[in-house]
Amino acid sequence: MIRYFLTALILFTGSVSAEQTLSIIKPDAVKGNNIGDILAHYEDGGLKIVALKMVQLTPEQAGQFYEVHKERPFFEELTTFMSSSPVVVVVLDGDKAISKNRELMGATDPKKATEGTIRWKYGNSIGENAVHGSDSEATAKEEIQFFFGPHEIH
Ligand code: ATP
Ligand code: MG
Repeated sequence: MIRYFLTALILFTGSVSAEQTLSIIKPDAVKGNNIGDILAHYEDGGLKIVALKMVQLTPEQAGQFYEVHKERPFFEELTTFMSSSPVVVVVLDGDKAISKNRELMGATDPKKATEGTIRWKYGNSIGENAVHGSDSEATAKEEIQFFFGPHEIH
C-alpha cells in the first residue's frame, strides 16, 4: 500500500515540475553553422527536444513575437535581425526547463555570459546573441503556441 502511495507521489511531483519552454536558434547561429552544437547543449544539459522546425520570419512576425520590446530603441534592429535568415524553433521539455534553458543560454550580453554557456560560445553582441529562451511559464506557453500546434509537439 505504502509503495503505491509513494509511487503515486513521485509521479505526481514529477508531472508538476516538468515544464516546456521555447528556444529559438537565431540567424547569427544558423548562418554560423552552429545549429547542431546548440541542440547538443540542450540535450547534454538534460532537456528533451519535443518539437523542432526551421522557419523564416517576416519582420512583422518578428515584431509580433517581440511585441513586449516594441518601445525599446533596439526594436527595429531586433526585428530586422530576426528576419534576416531562417531560424530554428525548438520546444524543450524537462524538469524546470524554463530556468534550466536560461542557465544554458547565459546572459543576454555574451560578454557578460558565464563561460561555457551558449551565448558565451556563439553570441556576437548583445543583439546578435545566438539564442532566445522563454523567461516565464506564461511567456513559454504563448511562445510555444506562436510556432507550434498541439499535434506538432511530441
Ligand atoms: P531573448 O528574449 O531573446 O531570449 P533575453 O531575454 O536575454 O533575450 P531581452 O531583454 O528579452 O533579453 O531582449 C530580447 C532580445 O533583444 C535580446 O536577446 C537581444 O537580441 C535584443 N536586445 C536586448 N537588448 C539589446 C540592446 N541593448 N541592443 C540591441 N539588441 C538588444
Ligand atoms: Mg527575453
